[in-house]
Amino acid sequence: MQTFDALLREAEAAHGHLCAGQILGVRLAMLGCQRLGIDDPKGVVNPIDRKRLVTFIEIDRCATDAIGVVTGCRLGKRAIKFRDWGKMAATFVDLAAPLSLQGDTPVYKAIRIAALESSKQRARELYPQIENKNQQQMLAYREMPDTDLFSEEWVAVPIHPREMPGYKSARITCELCGEGINYDREIRRDGKTLCEACATPDARYYQPLTPEDFAAISKAGAGSSPPPACEHC
Ligand SMILES: [Zn+2]
Ligand SMILES: [Zn+2]
Repeated sequence: MQTFDALLREAEAAHGHLCAGQILGVRLAMLGCQRLGIDDPKGVVNPIDRKRLVTFIEIDRCATDAIGVVTGCRLGKRAIKFRDWGKMAATFVDLAAPLSLQGDTPVYKAIRIAALESSKQRARELYPQIENKNQQQMLAYREMPDTDLFSEEWVAVPIHPREMPGYKSARITCELCGEGINYDREIRRDGKTLCEACATPDARYYQPLTPEDFAAISKAGAGSSPPPACEHC
C-alpha cells in the first residue's frame, strides 16, 4: 500500500484541493483495503489485487474522490457503485471469493465503514484554538485513531454478474428513440423494447425544452451562475 501522504497528494491533485474530506476519504479507503487484506488495490505491484475490489459509496462529496484515488475504483470501470444516501460511508467488496449464491447472484464479503458523527466534535476538542473548521478537522483527522473516526461492520453484498466490471452485454436499440442501451437496462412494455427514458417519461431526470421555453430562458439571460464551492472551503 502507498503511504498515507502519497495517497493524500494524489487525492489533492484529483480533487483540485486539499480539504478535510480528502483526509477522511483517504483514511476510510485505506482502512477498507486493510480490513480486506488488499495491499495493492491499484495493482501497481500485484495485478491480481487490482480486480478484487468493488466499492459502494453512499455520498457524492469531497471524500468520494479520495476513495476513488485510494482504491483505484472508477465509475467508468463499473467498480464504483453510487448509492445516493447522503451518508459519509462506503462499502468495500472483496470479489476474491464469493461466500454463497443467491439464485444466480454471487454474494461477497465486504466491510462497510461510516464516518462517526462524533468525529467533528472530537476535532473541536483537540484543536479548540483553531477557528477554521476545515483546518481544525484537517489536523485532527490526520492523527485521530480509526476508532474515533469510523464505525465498521462486516456485511454481505450480492452483486449480479451483469453489474460486475467487465460484463459484456448485448447492445439493444430503443424502439422509440433509437438510442442504444447497454447492460441489460432495456424495459419491455406493451410488446416494445424501450429505454428507461421512453418507458417512464415522467420519471426522467430531464424534460425536453420546447423552442418557446428555450427562447424565454435565453432572453432572461440564465445559465451563468458560478459552480458550487466545496463544502469544506
Ligand atoms: Zn474538498
Ligand atoms: Zn428510448
